[in-house]
Amino acid sequence: MSLDRTFQQYFAALDRAGHGDRCFVCRRTPAEVKQFFGFREDGTPIDAARYGIEDVVLDRLDIMSYGGARPVCAVCQLNLDALLLSGDRDALHELLQEMEEQRDKLWPADDAPAPDDGV
Ligand SMILES: [Zn+2]
Repeated sequence: MSLDRTFQQYFAALDRAGHGDRCFVCRRTPAEVKQFFGFREDGTPIDAARYGIEDVVLDRLDIMSYGGARPVCAVCQLNLDALLLSGDRDALHELLQEMEEQRDKLWPADDAPAPDDGV
């Protein structure tokens, strides 16, 4: 993909996302995704000398996808890949439905004791 087309795709994705450069699913920023993978905001490894990866640089395009309906980060893509590979697609759909329709079942009321209370 040409650089020009890449930028057009990026800005179109930000428009769809309300101008926020964050993952639609987890709300991580590109800098937070880089930090999750052990890289500084400039894409260089945080602990390069320790791991012998001084030459590795994380590209902006490696951490966020702007090609879909909304921006998605590499963490969420990898998590979804793992969920689907493990055959948990039905459980994921069930959980999404519970999160949407049965929030009170998933999360305790404010006055409920914490699970480790009294232990
Ligand atoms: Zn994400």
